[in-house]
Amino acid sequence: MARRVVVVGGGVMGSSAAWHLASRGDEVVLLEQFTPGHDRGSSYGSSRIFRLAYADPFYVGLAVRALPLWQRLEEEAEAEVLTLNGVVDHGPAAIVRRLEDVLGAAGRPTLALTPAEVAERWPGLRADTAALFHPEAGRLHADRAVAAFQTAARKRGAQVRHGVKVARVTARGTGADVVTAEEEVIAADAVVVAVGGWTPQFPAPGNEGLPALRVTAEQPAHFPAADALEWPSFIHHGGAGLPEGSGIYGLGSVDGVKAGFHGIGPVVDPERDERVIDPVVLRNLQEYAERWLPGADHAHPTTKTCLYTTTPDHDFVIDRSGPCTVLAGFSGHGFKFASVVGELAADLVAGRPGPDRFARTRF
Ligand SMILES: Cc1cc2nc3c(=O)[nH]c(=O)nc-3n(C[C@H](O)[C@H](O)[C@H](O)COP(=O)(O)OP(=O)(O)OC[C@H]3O[C@@H](n4cnc5c(N)ncnc54)[C@H](O)[C@@H]3O)c2cc1C
Repeated sequence: MARRVVVVGGGVMGSSAAWHLASRGDEVVLLEQFTPGHDRGSSYGSSRIFRLAYADPFYVGLAVRALPLWQRLEEEAEAEVLTLNGVVDHGPAAIVRRLEDVLGAAGRPTLALTPAEVAERWPGLRADTAALFHPEAGRLHADRAVAAFQTAARKRGAQVRHGVKVARVTARGTGADVVTAEEEVIAADAVVVAVGGWTPQFPAPGNEGLPALRVTAEQPAHFPAADALEWPSFIHHGGAGLPEGSGIYGLGSVDGVKAGFHGIGPVVDPERDERVIDPVVLRNLQEYAERWLPGADHAHPTTKTCLYTTTPDHDFVIDRSGPCTVLAGFSGHGFKFASVVGELAADLVAGRPGPDRFARTRF
């Protein structure tokens, strides 16, 4: 008999879970508090980096699993979501060589480049000491990805409801009741809680046992460039031309060339609309663009904030407690994995174990 599963949160993670669950024959209802394409959470906008390159082989394996699932999503939803135009990692030679070794060990293609070769291939981009290109990477269109998961979920029979805020989830027998702010009660055999930055205060069984999550407002900028869509994605690792421990990520998009610092923003409460733009961060990004992104117009940036929800070890929480499966703490690097996170969620709902690495009890 089909299970009735309520997914709370229509960001990229909840939407992917809804698709995978509906694909397996579960009766799925996805509830999202805001309108489609809203900009209050973590999954909106035109661009996220997709890449296989991680120093840790665990994440390389996860990204390798995610890749064909993105392509399956594009077919099912008849939408263009992923563009594989490669990523350039650059910075200290030791960091770049490590990525080359890990990708090589996984059998994935790479190309080592000098800064001069990077400038020749992409005249708008300057690379630090050592560089590595890997082609099985590029950009995801965030808004289109979320919409595609929801379209594909609907095609598989899921109900997707926007403008429905969930007030609480309470245990009932082996299942749970999902109670909305309007006091509608939806009985479920299982619940997937994927509420991003709202996780710390979300009332659901087992939520009190979650690790400390840090919710911050990050502030990337977009710089105009006529050829922005031709740019590869890029990661500039700190330790050579940038201070140790810092770093910059970026990519071309329909909104220009995006560049941002990773996880430096202030702690915020997502319930309050704290959209304060920090002029110092913006100026630092402009100075960065002037030096390292000469093909982009550093003088005319646009900027908006977006939420990170970060765990103490930057690994995710994908785990189950009773009827509730929680997807949280994607720590500013989760989007690329969303296609496989939904699959892991569907496994947990079906009673299969999740990766120990993402267990809530690991701390
Ligand atoms: C600036 C920035 C750049 C990033 N760049 C990259 C990148 O290049 N590559 C990469 O892999 N990752 C990147 N990420 C990370 C990635 O975007 C996030 O990990 C991912 O979007 C998290 O999705 P989510 O579904 O967990 O959260 P969200 O998108 O926030 O979704 C949670 C949803 O739950 C809803 N919700 C909350 N409470 C309730 C309730 N009570 N009832 C109903 N609905 C509720 C919210 O409205 C929201 O829509 C970036 C993040 C940011 C902010």
